[in-house]
Amino acid sequence: MSENTTPSFPERSGGSESPRSLLEQYGITPRKSLGQSFLHDPGVLERIVEAADLSGSDTVLEIGPGTGALTRRLLERAGRVIAVEIDERLVELLEGELGDAPGLELIHADILETDASALVGSRPYKLVANLPYYITGAILRRFLETPPRPSVMVVTVQREVAERIMALPGKMSLLSVSVQLHGRASLIGKIGPGAFWPPPGVESAIVRIDISDTPCVEIVDEKVFFRVVRAGFGQKRKKLRNSLRAGLGLPQGVIDSALEAAGIDPARRPETLSVQEWAALARALSPG
Ligand code: SAM
Repeated sequence: MSENTTPSFPERSGGSESPRSLLEQYGITPRKSLGQSFLHDPGVLERIVEAADLSGSDTVLEIGPGTGALTRRLLERAGRVIAVEIDERLVELLEGELGDAPGLELIHADILETDASALVGSRPYKLVANLPYYITGAILRRFLETPPRPSVMVVTVQREVAERIMALPGKMSLLSVSVQLHGRASLIGKIGPGAFWPPPGVESAIVRIDISDTPCVEIVDEKVFFRVVRAGFGQKRKKLRNSLRAGLGLPQGVIDSALEAAGIDPARRPETLSVQEWAALARALSPG
């Protein structure tokens, strides 16, 4: 992540929509186990909404509306906002504060247990969220790998996760392969812990991912592709030929021939492969 060109937002606090005073008013103590750090910096909230390029015809899926600071701004720009919150206490707060806002559908559910097509139907949508960090990877992979995919994601993630999302070969991971297969990621800006209450123990960043209808490389079967990638990354610091054999349970000869057919040195480590090379390898390992 470039230190010089990436904007950092000056920290400002609170005001009338301060999550802290709202939580106090409703007698709610934030739960760390649910990743509850609420954004109170108006500049950062505005930048997230701006990055999503919203118009009245947009449907937005917001994961974890919390005390509703981002939700309010989304409702000002988008025609429909579907907000999914796991914490019943916050659902009650949101019903009290925003319950009758036109365009808002408030859903009490765990996003990882919810079928996205039941939420958004078959119409295009954008995903905008200050994500709960304990499940960032699971949420990103789920919305990238399983249709219906959003056309755009604008999310707040840990700064270290933003770096992994945008990694180049040499520092690739399962997450960067997943993001780069389906989308183009750009860094909107970095955020210091003081923009949240309670402040998280890490730096954060806003990332926008533009998602394409088709993967950036031709892949035979996405399930096979990710089975191969997962196997490749399955054993840290191991050479590809060993982790693939262990992860896929195939004879060494089959693995070696596939690596040769894909033009990949068997001694390479998984983090050095590009998405194109993973696709060639998955093709060589595909049945038929
Ligand atoms: N959007 C708010 C903001 O920006 O201030 C809150 C963001 S806070 C980092 C994450 C939110 O996600 C919390 O409200 C938390 O309760 C909610 N959350 C955590 N796990 C969730 C899950 N599995 N499904 C839906 N919401 C979840």
